[in-house]
Amino acid sequence: DVTATKGNEFEDYFLKRELLMGIYEKGFERPSPIQEESIPIALTGSDILARAKNGTGKTAAFCIPALEKIDQDNNAIQAVILVPTRELALQTSQVCKELGKHLEIQVMVTTGGTSLKDDIMRLYQPVHLLVGTPGRILDLAKRGICILRDCSILVMDEADKLLSPEFQPSIEQLIRFLPTNRQILMFSATFPVTVKDFKDRYLRKPYIINLMDELTLKGITQYYAFVEERQKVHCLNTLFSKLQINQSIIFCNSVNRVELLAKKITELGYSCFYIHAKMLQDHRNRVFHDFRNGACRNLVCTDLFTRGIDIQAVNVVINFDFPKNSETYLHRVS
Ligand code: ADP
Ligand code: MG
Repeated sequence: DVTATKGNEFEDYFLKRELLMGIYEKGFERPSPIQEESIPIALTGSDILARAKNGTGKTAAFCIPALEKIDQDNNAIQAVILVPTRELALQTSQVCKELGKHLEIQVMVTTGGTSLKDDIMRLYQPVHLLVGTPGRILDLAKRGICILRDCSILVMDEADKLLSPEFQPSIEQLIRFLPTNRQILMFSATFPVTVKDFKDRYLRKPYIINLMDELTLKGITQYYAFVEERQKVHCLNTLFSKLQINQSIIFCNSVNRVELLAKKITELGYSCFYIHAKMLQDHRNRVFHDFRNGACRNLVCTDLFTRGIDIQAVNVVINFDFPKNSETYLHRVS
């Protein structure tokens, strides 16, 4: 899904040499289709509303222009990347750090559930690019600690999620801290109609990119098993013994069920981690990090974990509980 269509090269964008080095060292040989569409437009300063499937390289599509546009000699926050979850904030800041490895750009990640004091201390040092969740960044901006006067780029990744009632008010307040010549880049795989209203109010002549043919699940083989609640664990056990699992993610619909199922799976003799929203952030980070590094084969979690997470080794996704709607299903499995 990250193969180019137009035959463009990263050299075609006249990027800083150090940035180009970071891109190639990350193993990207050519821009993916969404990158081919977004990078040149974003570099012109235009607002963007872009829709492309999961796994098509949206992160670099906004990180590369942001890194290119940041002036390393100006020690001010010049770009903010908003994401809906803490895990995604960590992953995205990691991508920025890797792509910007040879640049002198300071990347900071800030999310709820971590020490505010640490963030405040960190902001005394130079930060050029801030990645985080809306609530915490708004908090820091309101306290006058996070100065967004020079922040001319605002990225909203998983934008439709960020426009849910949980986040939208914070985002609208946050936008008021930005300069008037700001640029807003919105990315997602799903854009319900609710986005239109926001787009009409905040985006200026946005360039619309739509690389979705349909909500496709190409390359994913889907199966279902019709079982009663009390047979679910037995069925899961059968699947474990039959499937070639490299790593698996297993979704449940509540915190309780995550814990219960993780216990059951361990009792069945399979290695298993779990993550849910009621765990302390440090603990969550550690589990996520260890799972990504292959410390364990199976991860049970709630939907807090679905969006934008890219773990190559995962080859099996199990919906132990039915997702609440088709969009959630899509984000879980793709
Ligand atoms: P999305 O946000 O669209 O779901 P990601 O940005 O998480 O996708 O990228 C998915 C995967 O593709 C990542 O592992 C990323 O490193 C890889 N990738 C992104 N761009 C390229 C590229 N131009 N060439 C090769 N791999 C790429
Ligand atoms: Mg993404």
